[in-house]
Amino acid sequence: MAGLVVVFDFDKTIIDWDSDNWVVEELGVKDLFTQLLPTMPWNSLMDRMMRELHSRGKTIEDIAECLKKIPLHPNIASAIKSAHAFGCDLRVLSAANEFFIDTILKHHGLMDCFSEINTNPSIIDEQGRLRILPYHDFHSSSHGCTICPPSMCKGLIMEKMQASVAADGKKHKQFIYVGDGAPDFCAGLKLEEGDFLMPRRDFPIWDLISANPLFTKAKIYEWNECDELGAVLLNTVNAFFTENKSRSTDQLVPVDCESQNSSTCLTAHEAFQNALPVPLPRQ
Ligand SMILES: [Mg+2]
Ligand SMILES: [Zn+2]
Repeated sequence: MAGLVVVFDFDKTIIDWDSDNWVVEELGVKDLFTQLLPTMPWNSLMDRMMRELHSRGKTIEDIAECLKKIPLHPNIASAIKSAHAFGCDLRVLSAANEFFIDTILKHHGLMDCFSEINTNPSIIDEQGRLRILPYHDFHSSSHGCTICPPSMCKGLIMEKMQASVAADGKKHKQFIYVGDGAPDFCAGLKLEEGDFLMPRRDFPIWDLISANPLFTKAKIYEWNECDELGAVLLNTVNAFFTENKSRSTDQLVPVDCESQNSSTCLTAHEAFQNALPVPLPRQ
């Protein structure tokens, strides 16, 4: 029996913005951010910015309210809910941080659709200051990848996911990877035949793919606008489950709506109806 694991980058993929830049700009520390950027890794700089916001009297609630204002395209939200309703295993792989991603996904009622959020850890310390830590402790050792930032190599995390899915063994699983950045290319390098890569056209991942056209055996379905991603994703998920006839219809059950507003939940039937009749892009 086949299954689909869909791995999403977060910034400029699930949301059409960079959440770090959004917070830094909206809460008025952009100048300091720009000044310090040449002097330290991005992840350490975001932790420094959280210290700055705390010293200026901004609370965790101020940061959360700021994050909730980031637009999330309704087609992306409905594609995520539909893919979840189909039975896909949805995961996030992002170099943002736990607090930012959890706050935004919960605000849009999407948190329960994801089985894993792989990102930089964050904690709130005794003073009520948000601390942002690196996923990979680069102070003790380097992960050795030159494509990715020191705090996280997305390719290494993809390998871990592939190993854990393979060890699970009950189902043959294929991967969809969706992203826009150079580290998403690193993750895409790990995809295998039968997998799907959904790169954002005219973003850094696209330049790397254009320069290395034979880098993967995965099918490549490009997208640029958020509504385009929603359609491409739904078409692919729809085609995948239509092709895999061995999947019994009794698995097409509604998602668990207990913790969500029931009006936001989609049944698999609705998910089919929402799958837009857009032709699949080039392979
Ligand atoms: Mg991104
Ligand atoms: Zn990497």
